[in-house]
Amino acid sequence: LQLTFAIIKPHVVKQPLVLETIRDMILTSNFKVVKTRRHAFTLKEAELFYEEHRNKFFYNRLVTFMTSGPSDFYILARDDAIKEWRKLMGPTKVFKTQFEAPDSIRGQFGLSDTRNATHGSDSPESVRKEVGLFFPHFDIE
Ligand code: ATP
Ligand code: MG
Repeated sequence: LQLTFAIIKPHVVKQPLVLETIRDMILTSNFKVVKTRRHAFTLKEAELFYEEHRNKFFYNRLVTFMTSGPSDFYILARDDAIKEWRKLMGPTKVFKTQFEAPDSIRGQFGLSDTRNATHGSDSPESVRKEVGLFFPHFDIE
């Protein structure tokens, strides 16, 4: 069993039917929801969360988008959760989803490379960092 950290991004939280569909996809893909909360990224949180991208051309639009409204935050559990969640999300870049994974979450609901519906941690270290930021009382060990 492994934990991962997931975010459903603001444009999806504004669309109840899409949100419900993604929740169903989470459960039918055998993830257990360990923790969830709805919260709008503060500017500080977005800057910390995306610090590895601060020199990228898309950084400002990413931070602006992520602070634009509430997101849903999840701690998810299943075997191989980090990899399986990223597989269910699909590729980062929206044009690729149509070739590689049209049925993935980003394939169905991604609107652009920035508004790509979901986030998933990419390693156990990022899970620790990201859970620590948004679920500070959760004991991950
Ligand atoms: P995430 O970290 O959100 O799970 P990822 O690991 O697939 O996604 P990263 O390279 O870590 O992708 O990028 C983080 C986020 O930055 C992406 O989810 C997306 O919102 C945004 N982003 C990445 N690449 C681009 C791009 N080329 N143009 C615009 N936005 C981008
Ligand atoms: Mg990433």
